[in-house]
Amino acid sequence: MLFPKKLTIEEWDARYQELARNGLREAHYGGPLGRHLAIEGNLRLRRLRFDNSTASLRLWNFLLTENERLRQARERGEKIVGAMKDLGTVPVMAYSLPGMRTFYPDGAWWTPCLMECSDGLLNQAEALGIDASFCPVRAMLAAFQNGEHFPRPDLLLCSTGAVCDDFSAIAQRLERLGFPIAWWEMPRRRAAEAGEEGCRLPGGLVAPRIQIDGAQEELARLAVMLGDLAGHRLEAPLLARGIREANRVRRLLAALRQAAYGSPAAPLPALEMLIAEMLALHFCSDRDESIKVLAGLLAEARTRARQGRWIVPPDAVRVYWINPVADLRAMNLIEDWGGRICGSDYMFTHALDLIPEDLPPLEALARTALADPMVGSSQDRAARVVAECRTSKAEAVVLSRIPGASHCAREGLLIRERVRDELGIPSVELEIPPLCDSLLPTLQSRIQALIETARSRRPPGVVPR
Ligand code: SF4
Repeated sequence: MLFPKKLTIEEWDARYQELARNGLREAHYGGPLGRHLAIEGNLRLRRLRFDNSTASLRLWNFLLTENERLRQARERGEKIVGAMKDLGTVPVMAYSLPGMRTFYPDGAWWTPCLMECSDGLLNQAEALGIDASFCPVRAMLAAFQNGEHFPRPDLLLCSTGAVCDDFSAIAQRLERLGFPIAWWEMPRRRAAEAGEEGCRLPGGLVAPRIQIDGAQEELARLAVMLGDLAGHRLEAPLLARGIREANRVRRLLAALRQAAYGSPAAPLPALEMLIAEMLALHFCSDRDESIKVLAGLLAEARTRARQGRWIVPPDAVRVYWINPVADLRAMNLIEDWGGRICGSDYMFTHALDLIPEDLPPLEALARTALADPMVGSSQDRAARVVAECRTSKAEAVVLSRIPGASHCAREGLLIRERVRDELGIPSVELEIPPLCDSLLPTLQSRIQALIETARSRRPPGVVPR
């Protein structure tokens, strides 16, 4: 049964009025979605199609009020930390301390998409010496300078070492513009050599003990800086509690991914699932609230799955998606063109894995940071993709390239070869710019060709479940 409907923003606002008349109860940041278009200028919302549940309404409002909530936190005297590049490690530490919020300025890479480039950030970045040969994360540079998108952090932390050239250059430029950065070293993950002690990481990889010790030392240095800012030492019991809370988020996400990707058909749309997965990174600046948002989505997904209410036909092709999309609209399009997401690697699979609770907390975090798919070889990443495709019964793989991204020029090819050799399923690699509208005919024909190829490989009358 196809039941939950995707709504335009106008349809959502009409539904919102009806829900409000019927006594809808909302979080303090609630309200109609249309205000994010009319007041904040998020023009891309006109092109997106949204899930019609109140759980998804809460998710969108949570996402789109982040900067406002950060400013309110600043007014209350809370400290704000900008974490850059590590994706999921520093926030676990910062949220262990009282009166502290962390966000990723890197998240500004979606601003040109959301504002349909009316923000001018990409052009401003170019004027600051970072042109289109860099990936859209360069929007962050201009956002720092114009101060219009997020509050200036009290402390700015950035991992270095095993970091792409783009980010490294942009962060160095940022520092030269007068934004002091505390750098911390993340080694490039390698396998343990003969005679070296190896330690298991979340997700199943193994790294040499010496690398874990090195990362742990760096995190200990960050703990002192964070503690100084908070006026409260970040001692092991406090961090252990922060890890347990972060794992609550990760457990909820695991259950949600299982419900959304593991059901016979999709009970929640790919777009809302992408946003939900991102909450793992820094809890969208409010850890307790992110738990409530995820719990609401999980309840909705389970109810729909129990009732057989799907957002795309049950015979939609099961697609494993790699990399976040610069244009959020792409996640609507995959469903419009006959696919459904059955698994994902949005570049932060390590932030979905549980942080070990039976190790000294800093070591547990160091192991988690080293499991980052972007600090090791593309072959490691490919191996996890293949394993997840297998368990999720993926029928096709989409690898969305990020324009200008330098993190690995050959990564797409390597992953696709591995997928072909080990699974024999079709894949496609395509570039999705911040606004993909002008590429729609090309994207449509390439994705539909993939979907049709996958469909044609099914035994007659069989839909993988
Ligand atoms: S998308 Fe790739 S190139 Fe751009 S910042 Fe992220 S890892 Fe670096």
